[in-house]
Amino acid sequence: MTPRHDLSGPVRRVVLVVLDGLRPDAIRRFELSTVARLAQRGASTLHARTVSPSVTACAMTSLLTGATPDYHGVQSDQFRLPRPKGMLHPLPRTLAAHSYPTSFFMADVGLLMRPFANQAASVMGVGEARFAGDDAHAIVDAARRQLASQRRGLVVMHWPDADRAGHEHGWMSEQYGRAARSMDRALGTVTELIDLNDPSQMLVVLADHGGGGVDPKDHNSDHPLDNVIPLIFAGGSIVHAPLPEPVSLLDVPATILWSLGVPRPASYAGRALTGILHALPVAA
Ligand SMILES: [Zn+2]
Repeated sequence: MTPRHDLSGPVRRVVLVVLDGLRPDAIRRFELSTVARLAQRGASTLHARTVSPSVTACAMTSLLTGATPDYHGVQSDQFRLPRPKGMLHPLPRTLAAHSYPTSFFMADVGLLMRPFANQAASVMGVGEARFAGDDAHAIVDAARRQLASQRRGLVVMHWPDADRAGHEHGWMSEQYGRAARSMDRALGTVTELIDLNDPSQMLVVLADHGGGGVDPKDHNSDHPLDNVIPLIFAGGSIVHAPLPEPVSLLDVPATILWSLGVPRPASYAGRALTGILHALPVAA
């Protein structure tokens, strides 16, 4: 597939934040002002769909490979190395081939899981992976230096707060609301660390799944409350408009490649959301 523009496009760095388990209707219910503001000033939808099964390991692997769970082979909530049906082109590895670094920040996975987590990051082609802290604020703190110094490529953060509260207390419970608001404040910190008026900077915020559709404390089903997610693109070159529907989590890695001017491998199931950028250079 030919990208619509070459490396002369404006975006140089993408910061991708995954708000684990954040349901779209939580944004209004719990007055998540930063998420709402980003949605309003960027290209966004509250009706994107995640992958099936709607669980974190599948969704994160799809975000990092562009492939469906059926193709990349991670089909349960157990994190493991992909067993793909064909060639897999991990997003960080594909970016690295075009000299874009990737760094990755998520909560501490524990001593036993750490070797696996580092191995998985290395297989994906992640240059710098940190597993530190246990909530959004601690993860932002761990990423702070990288956000300041890595001006190109991709910075990924995964925040566990809302999902954890949902499993413990139920989706949309008071505790879930508190966790969602805490993630919203952490997102506020991220927006202070990135200049969103700068055309070279793009912030992508999404959830990996919802929750409470069938089981009030779980999210693995085809119920819309489980598999519909918010998706927001913001930054200096991003239009202020609703995203065209239908839109999928799988469109995110394709769009990241496209916005950085990197050709999309055939194993990517999604399409680039080419309407999100202002003033595109015309295709050659
Ligand atoms: Zn979960």
